[in-house]
Amino acid sequence: MTGEPEEEEKHYIVGHKQPDTDTIVSAIAYSRLQEASGRDAVAVRAGDLNPETEFVLEKFDVDEPELLEDASGKSVIMVDHNVYSQAVEGMEDAKVRQVIDHHRLGDIETSEPIYVRIEPVGSTATIITDMYLEAGVEIDRKTSGLLLSGLLSDTVVLRSPTTTDVDRRVAGELAERAGVDYEEYGKEILSKKSEIGEKSPREMILGDFKEYDWSGETVGIGQVETVEPEKVLEQKETLIDTMEDIGEERGYPLLVLLITDLLEEHTEAFAVGKEKDRFEDALETEMDDSQASLPGVMSRKKQVVPPLEESFQG
Ligand code: MG
Ligand code: MG
Ligand code: MG
Repeated sequence: MTGEPEEEEKHYIVGHKQPDTDTIVSAIAYSRLQEASGRDAVAVRAGDLNPETEFVLEKFDVDEPELLEDASGKSVIMVDHNVYSQAVEGMEDAKVRQVIDHHRLGDIETSEPIYVRIEPVGSTATIITDMYLEAGVEIDRKTSGLLLSGLLSDTVVLRSPTTTDVDRRVAGELAERAGVDYEEYGKEILSKKSEIGEKSPREMILGDFKEYDWSGETVGIGQVETVEPEKVLEQKETLIDTMEDIGEERGYPLLVLLITDLLEEHTEAFAVGKEKDRFEDALETEMDDSQASLPGVMSRKKQVVPPLEESFQG
């Protein structure tokens, strides 16, 4: 097992703001693994749950973690993120003890050496599953179901280009332990993920939203993953207006909304802000009336963020 077991203090295991399923199930599953190693650990969340995550917790009959409003002064294990801009309030003043993540290395600083495990795989749930296996700790049915849900959600049922062979192997093992057919269950997750329903424009833009600090500016990128993109695209005018409002309120030089068609593996993007042209150049696309087509694009992290970052930092 990892870390220094002599510590007695409580460890808060927390994922990123605007929590997604991977972030929540990773916190829950990792708190169980930490407890199995004798550490006082509690899973917490950095914001409200989305409908997909609510569905997953209900399916496996697991309570939602408590909200952590401020991490100041607390011992914290960060899962599924490792940058301050995506972290709960007060993280700069927290004692970060571990980082378990599948995103590129961010800007977290610590005063002591810590345990860090970052792997380029499809989900944090994938890494945590391997940590259970390495530690020889039994993954019970519920925990397997939770971890499988995080993996399937983040990899769009193993369709996303972020998917690796490790994810495929782990998905098979978890599905067996959870007693579910992952293709079948994956479709249920996708339909929850993509429920546009009564969402307001603001909810669509900010529901799955990340900020990136590049060269002293903050860029916002939201993503709607759906099987019914037309329901989002038909609200273009209102969405663009709302994006302009949000961009102004928050001072973003660029605000992007990715509308990803999970079945067609295609993204339509809306972009607003004074650096809109940069988006067009970086993604090598043509914008028409604030909209660009990005065929084959499914992953914000892998296909959209790197060229944009390069453009802003380069
Ligand atoms: Mg996440
Ligand atoms: Mg993740
Ligand atoms: Mg995601």
